[in-house]
Amino acid sequence: MEAKKLTTKEKLQIPPVMMPQQDAHERVHNVNEVPLGYTVDMAQTEAQRCLQCKNAPCVKGCPVEIDIPAFINAILEGRNRESINTIKQTNILPAVCGRVCPQEEQCQKTCVVGKSNKDVAKAVQIGKLERFAADWEMEQGEAEVPVIKASTGKRVAVVGSGPAGLTVAADTRREGHDVTIFEALHKPGGVLIYGIPEFRLPKRIVMREVKNLQKMGVTLRTNYVVGKLSTIDELFDEGFDAVFVATGAGLPLFMHIPGENLNGVYSANEYLTRANLMQAYSFPNTDTPIARAKNVAVFGGGNVAMDSARTALRLGAENVYLVYRRSKKEMPARVEEVEHAEEEGVQMMLLQNPVKILGDQNGWVKEIECIKMELGEPDESGRRRPVAVKGSEFLTPVDVVIVAIGNASNPLVPSTTPDLAVNKWGNIVAAEETLRTSKKGVFAGGDIVLGAATVILAMGQGRKAARAINEYLKTGVW
Ligand SMILES: Cc1cc2nc3c(=O)[nH]c(=O)nc-3n(C[C@H](O)[C@H](O)[C@H](O)COP(=O)(O)OP(=O)(O)OC[C@H]3O[C@@H](n4cnc5c(N)ncnc54)[C@H](O)[C@@H]3O)c2cc1C
Repeated sequence: MEAKKLTTKEKLQIPPVMMPQQDAHERVHNVNEVPLGYTVDMAQTEAQRCLQCKNAPCVKGCPVEIDIPAFINAILEGRNRESINTIKQTNILPAVCGRVCPQEEQCQKTCVVGKSNKDVAKAVQIGKLERFAADWEMEQGEAEVPVIKASTGKRVAVVGSGPAGLTVAADTRREGHDVTIFEALHKPGGVLIYGIPEFRLPKRIVMREVKNLQKMGVTLRTNYVVGKLSTIDELFDEGFDAVFVATGAGLPLFMHIPGENLNGVYSANEYLTRANLMQAYSFPNTDTPIARAKNVAVFGGGNVAMDSARTALRLGAENVYLVYRRSKKEMPARVEEVEHAEEEGVQMMLLQNPVKILGDQNGWVKEIECIKMELGEPDESGRRRPVAVKGSEFLTPVDVVIVAIGNASNPLVPSTTPDLAVNKWGNIVAAEETLRTSKKGVFAGGDIVLGAATVILAMGQGRKAARAINEYLKTGVW
């Protein structure tokens, strides 16, 4: 399509191009991806909406500062290879980020088109365009292997293969270091593989990125729990010169209410790991069982809660209740995820808080007791504090409960590395710009430093850490 020169006024009048998606009634019966992607025409029409602002506030809204106007202009002019190369200068996982980044809180929040329309939903659909460019590249076949500098003879150990670890592996390998990733699970990718469901992020996309790293010469050792098989000190003894710890926030938090130890109560981590990583949805074709329930309650209001609720529907539940103690406005989940969950039939039990889980005579979940809540004054998070309404308790029959109220840092590496400083939440303390820890040669980043955060923030820290590791290995200065 030839790029038409439109005035700013004309551009502002073009409505955002909606991405086609699977019908809600059909998609709850499969695990295929929900949004189907833009065609070339759709992408070029959406790209036309970008005003190509000189000061580009969208770039400042992106944690890794992708040159957004440049990649969008390249799409508009049909230069898709240039578009994806522009994105990849700062983001090694564009197909992932185009799908799961909270753009409405980042680049799209600061977009002038959205601001002029007084509606962030009407901002240029930067995330969808990023996905388009990345998917276009995948359609062209194998990705090009980047140039690797001559061997430095230095060895880097990366502990954990989530987005932070993958980023560091790529950026340090490019410098010519010998890089090994140690991953506790049998498959690499971290939350991208075991947490975020297939219908939001197809696993082939993550595996393609991992394969690219292997083509670059990165060694991957799965089923390797650092802190059990080797400590960090033992990795240095084995000859590694620097270690990057990116073990994430995989420790599930519970509510500590009566009944949480009943059969049929899962942490969201366990539930999603069974369903995603271990493919329990195709049991008995796979070895992993999962409780098939008619009525499921999910506790929480974030992305993890939405993913759990939508997974439960796909596993055949008739009623999935999402129990959240605040109102919809305060939900930390992405707006798109909440909309998708509602379209699929997840029933929102808002301003309600679980106080007890009750079981039958065999120790299986039978019902939950919740109390109604109302919103009081804002708390330290800025959100209005939920306050229980006395005497408003009520029962709801359920067979499975999924607790999705948050995750804390994995404690194993800090607990086996005495000189690695952690804060009061158990997160590893690391310098903001260099991600250096209290222990010489050890860097850390992603959720293990930030607490449960986002893919792009984990990658952003990975980039900074890699820069600092490369510098440290070059100069030897700590
Ligand atoms: C269900 C769910 C949905 C989410 N949805 C979104 C979303 O839509 N958008 C978004 O931006 N973010 C989302 N997030 C958050 C995002 O996935 C994380 O912030 C991000 O993955 C953190 O990356 P990381 O590399 O720090 O750690 P992780 O992705 O957690 O990876 C850590 C890796 O380290 C491994 N590991 C742990 N301990 C050891 C050890 N001792 N030895 C070896 N390996 C170890 C783990 O097995 C894991 O593979 C979601 C999180 C969850 C749980």
